[in-house]
Amino acid sequence: MTIRLVVATKNPGKMRELEALLKGEGWEIFPLTAFTSMPPVSEDGETFVENALKKARAAACFTGMAALADDSGLEVDALGGAPGVHSARFGGEGLSDSERYLLLLKMLEGVPWRERTARFKCVMALVVPDDKEYVVEGVCEGIIAMEPKGEGGFGYDPVFYLPSYGKTMAQLPAGEKNRISHRAKALHRMREILRRLGGRL
Ligand code: IMP
Repeated sequence: MTIRLVVATKNPGKMRELEALLKGEGWEIFPLTAFTSMPPVSEDGETFVENALKKARAAACFTGMAALADDSGLEVDALGGAPGVHSARFGGEGLSDSERYLLLLKMLEGVPWRERTARFKCVMALVVPDDKEYVVEGVCEGIIAMEPKGEGGFGYDPVFYLPSYGKTMAQLPAGEKNRISHRAKALHRMREILRRLGGRL
């Protein structure tokens, strides 16, 4: 039986990555944009878990399908974990991705390399109507670069340097990012849950 799954994100960058990561598993995937009348969900939680669950619950309730949602962001140690859950709105609404990461670089001016440690975090929630809720997390460690490099990915990727590759996330081929990213790690865990649930959905 084909599992019908709504992916509760309107971010095209994330949707692309999630579709690539879920491909070939035999699930019928619906983007949230297919449900134009669904009211928007405000991401006002204090944690990634709260926000991911809120988005998945709303999508499951509206569509009646199993719903997968993630909440993710960048934690920078020198900024006490900011921008964290506020990553998408860091610096205010209406900024472009590049304006946001340039602001981040400005705030880290003078901070030496060894103190620029950071991580991308992704919490993924699955809500199955009339059943259970499942939550998993994935983390990808890196360093905030001194300047942006690369054209791939989205968001803060051009300033997220991966020492083991000697490249920023935006310099990695999409397939490689999808292998090592916080989202890939969370989804890997979620995939196990989905496979176990398989017959019942
Ligand atoms: P969300 O849609 O509330 O999860 O917002 C997450 C925000 O964190 C995005 O808008 C990006 O700014 C940032 N972010 C999350 N994942 C990534 C990634 O893989 N690369 C770069 N930035 C990311």
